[in-house]
Amino acid sequence: MLKVNEIYKSIQGESSFVGLPCVFVRLTGCHLRCTWCDTAYAFHEGEDMTVEEVVKKVRGLGPRLFELTGGEPLLQEDAFPLVERLLKLHDTVLVETSGAVDVACLDKQAVKIMDIKCPASGMSDKMIWENLNYLTPRDEIKFVIQNRSDFDWACRVIEEHDLLKKSPILFSPVFGQLNPQELAEWILKENLNVRMQLQIHKYIWSVEVRGV
Ligand code: SF4
Repeated sequence: MLKVNEIYKSIQGESSFVGLPCVFVRLTGCHLRCTWCDTAYAFHEGEDMTVEEVVKKVRGLGPRLFELTGGEPLLQEDAFPLVERLLKLHDTVLVETSGAVDVACLDKQAVKIMDIKCPASGMSDKMIWENLNYLTPRDEIKFVIQNRSDFDWACRVIEEHDLLKKSPILFSPVFGQLNPQELAEWILKENLNVRMQLQIHKYIWSVEVRGV
């Protein structure tokens, strides 16, 4: 059984798949509490559904791109069989995960978009660093940056773990808290080979609107 917060179709707003139509399933629950979390509504609210009920609802929505998100979707045991089922229905299955849950059992065909929590999130000490061993060039590593100390910390982590050789790296400013222009200038000045991204769904729709 799964606890599902929402199922909807939208434009993929972040990652290298940005801009593409995508079906989203947001699972309920998260064991972290990032200071800048924008999906706190998914901590508790949700409806119980079986894997097959989710698949039935998702089937026919249209887009060939699918994303499993949360909350932290991998806290729920049935998230793993759900991903396996969805891989049969979609060309690409993205899984957004916090980096603080073991990803070893996740189907390797799924594209992991894994956060590395910077200090300003308040959750850096919850990271499971062994997860880096399961990343491939198909996966993506995401740093959400709130300030210059986060940026410097992220640069150190990239270097210490040789992350540029593992997977593409995404840098995202905390929406409304770090000016994107500032982040862009830091990246250019440091000659960092990372992809800067904005959460475009928040520019297309209001920040307050759910299901986008
Ligand atoms: S991991 Fe994601 S859902 Fe959980 S608190 Fe952090 S931002 Fe929110």
